[in-house]
Amino acid sequence: MPSKSALTTLIKNKAFELGFVLCGMSRAVFMDEEARRVEAWLNNNYNGEMGYLDNHFDMRVDPTKLVPGAKSVISVAYNYYTTEKQADPEAPKVSMYAFGRDYHKVVKNKLKLLFTYVQSVAGDIYGRAFVDSAPVLEKDWAARSGLGWRGRHGLLINPKKGSYFFLGELILDLELDYDHPIKDFCGTCRRCIDACPTDAISSEGYFINASQCITYVTVELRAEVIPDEFKGKMENWAFGCDICQQVCPWNKFAAPHQEPDFTPRPFLNMTKEEWQDITEPIYEEVFFSTPVKRARYEGLKRNIRFLDNND
Ligand code: SF4
Ligand code: SF4
Repeated sequence: MPSKSALTTLIKNKAFELGFVLCGMSRAVFMDEEARRVEAWLNNNYNGEMGYLDNHFDMRVDPTKLVPGAKSVISVAYNYYTTEKQADPEAPKVSMYAFGRDYHKVVKNKLKLLFTYVQSVAGDIYGRAFVDSAPVLEKDWAARSGLGWRGRHGLLINPKKGSYFFLGELILDLELDYDHPIKDFCGTCRRCIDACPTDAISSEGYFINASQCITYVTVELRAEVIPDEFKGKMENWAFGCDICQQVCPWNKFAAPHQEPDFTPRPFLNMTKEEWQDITEPIYEEVFFSTPVKRARYEGLKRNIRFLDNND
């Protein structure tokens, strides 16, 4: 078997070959500081109806509970930035991450290939792959692995690539060479805090009240009607919200992705009227296998209706 440092280099090179734009490693240890932060966040009920974020707290802060004998967490980032836009500026808006095929499958498949590669060079090792999975604090692992820092909007920012990427992790029972966190470059900037239309970001940043966030309201909230407090604040977002990323100065470094599966679907050409008239069969057809399916037809219709009546 190659040495620990040779193995680390081989894995990183393979990750880049598979299309990941960032890759870093951390020791798989209990996340003491992060655990206290998550506990405070949950105690404030900032998770809204996302009860699943309350579950398995032990697992979320201790990778050895997810992978017995875990020694390392490999964090990777997969770019989804595109310069393509929705054609009708009046049409209800969809967050950029949902323009193409559902990232869970795309990124997980890449991670499985990476894992197979690790086994081919490191032998009989055990591990698991995660993509946007509730039991893993993926932004914190990515920060520990030096992929970037957690900005005031809570997302991970890389100083050379911005923040438009998906994160994934491989948790392995294999020792590697470890990376280190990088500096927080938010400095005195408060653009995301000032731009957030629902004040979901705390006044000093770094704490997001998910139950106030348009992404949560349009994607996760299952209520039949959107609460009145969001009237006039949705800025025409029907699925997700990109405002805090759009205003972040570090995203001037974002470069378009090269992933065919993320090629924007034709729904980017839908007019406002077509959105308003959308039927369930059309919804099934145009959003097939995209992240927008998470909202379900009723949820998306509810969001569009709310925009029509209140924005
Ligand atoms: S996604 Fe939108 S609503 Fe949520 S924190 Fe960012 S700007 Fe605010
Ligand atoms: S907009 Fe400014 S404060 Fe917010 S995450 Fe970006 S750099 Fe940090």
